[in-house]
Amino acid sequence: MPAEQSGVPPPTLRLRLDADALAANWRTLDACAPGAATGAAVKANAYGLGVREVMPVLREAGARDFFVAHWGEVREVLAHTPGASVSVLHGPLTTDDCAFARATGVRPVINSLFQARLWTDAGGGPCDVMIDSGINRLGLSVSQIGDPAMRALQIDTLLSHLASADEDSAQNAQQLAIFEQACAVLPARRRSLANSAAIGLGGAYHFDLTRPGLSLYGGVPRPELANAIRQVAYPQAAIIQLRDLSPGDHVGYNATFTATRAMRAAVVSIGYADGYLRCWSGHGALQSKGRALPLLGRVSMDMVVVDLAPAPELREGDWLDIPYALPQAAMASGLSQYELITILGRRLHQS
Ligand SMILES: *Cc1c(COP(=O)(O)O)cnc(C)c1O
Repeated sequence: MPAEQSGVPPPTLRLRLDADALAANWRTLDACAPGAATGAAVKANAYGLGVREVMPVLREAGARDFFVAHWGEVREVLAHTPGASVSVLHGPLTTDDCAFARATGVRPVINSLFQARLWTDAGGGPCDVMIDSGINRLGLSVSQIGDPAMRALQIDTLLSHLASADEDSAQNAQQLAIFEQACAVLPARRRSLANSAAIGLGGAYHFDLTRPGLSLYGGVPRPELANAIRQVAYPQAAIIQLRDLSPGDHVGYNATFTATRAMRAAVVSIGYADGYLRCWSGHGALQSKGRALPLLGRVSMDMVVVDLAPAPELREGDWLDIPYALPQAAMASGLSQYELITILGRRLHQS
């Protein structure tokens, strides 16, 4: 451990990554789309869990196609899997971006005629193309794909992205039809439409390659995936002080909790700077051996205070579990499963 080598004391906050669950989730998603290859979205540092930890596990499980958003995310992905197929979803904005893509062998996702011309003028090469089939975010509209700038491209994978795959929305079939129209016009080696949720929509949405992110990391965007996907990220924080409260004592900023009886409380080393946001105040509970320890008062930047009545034997230095099963945590906090997984802070990774 580098921390120990440099004499830094052990942390009071940590994230346990269940590598078996991560690999099992990839295999589950792969089995859900039997005719298609299964890639992996590893943008945003593998949804906050760490490219360094996640990439070798996915690679070992069988993933070969990886998606990032930014050019700045490429180096770390390649460092862990040299020669991997990497697509950069934001595409090129400058000639420097194009030169970087050509030098590293990663593929830009072409999202506009501007990007198509930029890439071709820079010398071109294999690229991906994003069709905007109705999300009105990145991508070319179907009316643009007959443009001569598109004929010049050497398209590896033709992509589109669903806006409402986590719902039973008529928009899914509409976007599917528009994507199929684009596939009939633009020659490409492979076609890819499905994120995690769209894998649950069934075979018509799978095409040649799927691009799950959320469900690899434990998210359940559709009921079809509910019993198959396992929790991957387990945050834990240590008790750093015990405190005995008397009736009438207030806890935390703005005194939003007042003790009505004598009680034992614990100050715990996690706060909103670590991604444990203030929306948990009043709802959240930490856990010890499955026993819920309710939060008292507001979440601070670096700490929370919990009621120790259900676990009176706990002492300074003991570890508590932060309940982080994504579907349940989303319901309890009001945050989306995506937000919950991506906001876990840097201090959790220093263990
Ligand atoms: C992030 C992203 C994905 C992965 O989506 P999940 O919902 O996390 O599975 C797939 N495709 C595109 C274009 C994305 O931006």
